[in-house]
Amino acid sequence: MPELPEVEHAARCLREWVAGRTIVAVETEPRALRIFRPHSRAALARALRGRQVASVRRVGKHLLLALGPEPLGLLSHLGMTGKWLRRAPGEPAPSHSRARLLLDDGAVLHYRDPRLFGRLRLVPGARFDEVTELRALGPDPLAEGIDPRRLGQLLARTRRAVKVALLDQRILPGVGNIHASEACFRARLDPRRRGSSLAAAEVRALAAGVRASLRAAVDALQGPEIVYVEEGGENPFLVYAREGERCPRCRKAPLRRIVQAQRSTFFCPRCQE
Ligand SMILES: [Zn+2]
Repeated sequence: MPELPEVEHAARCLREWVAGRTIVAVETEPRALRIFRPHSRAALARALRGRQVASVRRVGKHLLLALGPEPLGLLSHLGMTGKWLRRAPGEPAPSHSRARLLLDDGAVLHYRDPRLFGRLRLVPGARFDEVTELRALGPDPLAEGIDPRRLGQLLARTRRAVKVALLDQRILPGVGNIHASEACFRARLDPRRRGSSLAAAEVRALAAGVRASLRAAVDALQGPEIVYVEEGGENPFLVYAREGERCPRCRKAPLRRIVQAQRSTFFCPRCQE
């Protein structure tokens, strides 16, 4: 599932493919209406046609495209299976293409999303700071770093397990189920510990764990088309989706999978306390 590293990768690809380009035409898939809500397919196509892409930014798991010359924003969230792909003129479309942006260089930008949990939304005047879900986000851990004091204060207020709290986008936007498990493992923290039980040194270790986990994943994503782990891609993670394998650190215990807040958590029962 796309988390901060995959969305950062998408932002870099989009910058390369579309910055300065004009959208000549837009086609959308009739069965993908929920991706475009609250807009109709026709309204989305009409609004985007003829616009030039001025910039592409990422905040948490969101992609923010600023279009001109009249300012208009396009907000893209990849949901569970979303992906942006570029096809050269004449190349066949990928499967599950839900929206196609035809560019003035002849290339086609496809938004592919088999499970339809992603979203594409217009933001009037490109005023992204007025979008409620963006306003709620904490500082981006990659772009702005992680302040251990702020993290400690937020965790001190929660009764939730630390791994569950890490999924809260108001705390560290972009961290999802994979990196919450990975960060707890790197910090040697039992993911079931209550957020408020962490000592200052443990919070610092957790901040470092999140940073290292995100950084390693960003560095590992190369090339224009990545395959998510859930799609059968190579698993570059230390503990995620490795239930039953020997712990890569203590080499003694088999890694365990538990369910917290309906999501899988992976950890080593021996070296995470
Ligand atoms: Zn271990």
